[in-house]
Amino acid sequence: MGESLPGYARCARAMLSAGPLRNLDEQTLRRLHNERPEPAGSNAETVSLLDVKIELARRMLSGCRLCERRCGADRTAGETGFCGVGNRSNWFFEQVLWGEEPPLVPSHEVFFSGCNLRCSFCYSWQSMLDPSVGEAVEPGSFAAMVDSRRAEGAVNLNLIGGEPTIHLPAILEALRLVTRPTAVVWNSNFYMSAETMSLLDGAIDLYLGDFRFGCDECARTLGGVDRYVETAARNFQLAARSSDLIIRHLLIPGHIECCLKPIAKWVAERLPEAPFNLMFQYTPFFEALDDPALCRSLTPEEEKEALRIVSEHKLNTTSWRRPLSDSAPADGLGKGEISTTIAIRPDGRVAVMHLHGDLVQIVRSLEIGGSVHG
Ligand code: SF4
Repeated sequence: MGESLPGYARCARAMLSAGPLRNLDEQTLRRLHNERPEPAGSNAETVSLLDVKIELARRMLSGCRLCERRCGADRTAGETGFCGVGNRSNWFFEQVLWGEEPPLVPSHEVFFSGCNLRCSFCYSWQSMLDPSVGEAVEPGSFAAMVDSRRAEGAVNLNLIGGEPTIHLPAILEALRLVTRPTAVVWNSNFYMSAETMSLLDGAIDLYLGDFRFGCDECARTLGGVDRYVETAARNFQLAARSSDLIIRHLLIPGHIECCLKPIAKWVAERLPEAPFNLMFQYTPFFEALDDPALCRSLTPEEEKEALRIVSEHKLNTTSWRRPLSDSAPADGLGKGEISTTIAIRPDGRVAVMHLHGDLVQIVRSLEIGGSVHG
């Protein structure tokens, strides 16, 4: 992430020549967004690019196509589609945490309720199934929370779910009110629509993309989603063109040939420079607990084979490991109540799901792998 203003702030400063946005139809708004006409003369009516993005995101809610499910629900009228989120976006947990890749910590992580996927091993399955969990995103107080965490020392705002995509209008409205420049990380399953990708373009500083499944059959059976691979692949290429990107893949037991292998091949062919984080912290939750094939840990042989595949494809597995600065927890950083989830995996190892600074030393001294599932 660069040193300059974060993307949303640049979008707020970019003024376009246009009258009141509520008078414009969606096609005109889209043209305005893409062509970005500069104001002509000092008396010209102007709007900011961020305002145009917010207006378009709101319009997409009536006939929802924020993600590639394209449910068409009129969420402005309280209808819900697959994700179950209507016109209210909720977040259920926020803290300054150390579980992400070294360049990204300490990170102000905000977890939103609801999801457009149904992963059978999801660790935040309660909020996935019930999007009413948590507090409503009220733009003013949400922005104040972001400012406050930034003032404490968080180096970015990390938007997580569930899935942030399904809350795009509320997130953009809140970002407009953030006063302390804060880089924004979009921590996503990458099943957003192309229209959503175009609104994120320029507003997001780093995409932390979870390439979850490598074939559509696994995406259907484990994630309850169709056309996942082509959608995620398209979005990864769009993301790489517009911003910084880290591609993650959480290894799933028994899914090396069908998932890791095609993902590694695709990344090697299409985005060979992209930082690639192969994650080994799979821990069964939710429906996986009742599925003998998923209710187990990775075997040492699977881990070895996964490393061999990634090495064979010469993926960039090193650049994301370098911290940008000394990320040792500072006093007072991440103040407030600490909430975490600690789970014992089937192999007896311990997984820490929300790695707070106060837990870092304990985790290190126990020599266990602390991490957060994105
Ligand atoms: S965000 Fe996706 S899953 Fe939710 S209503 Fe919109 S199209 Fe459907």
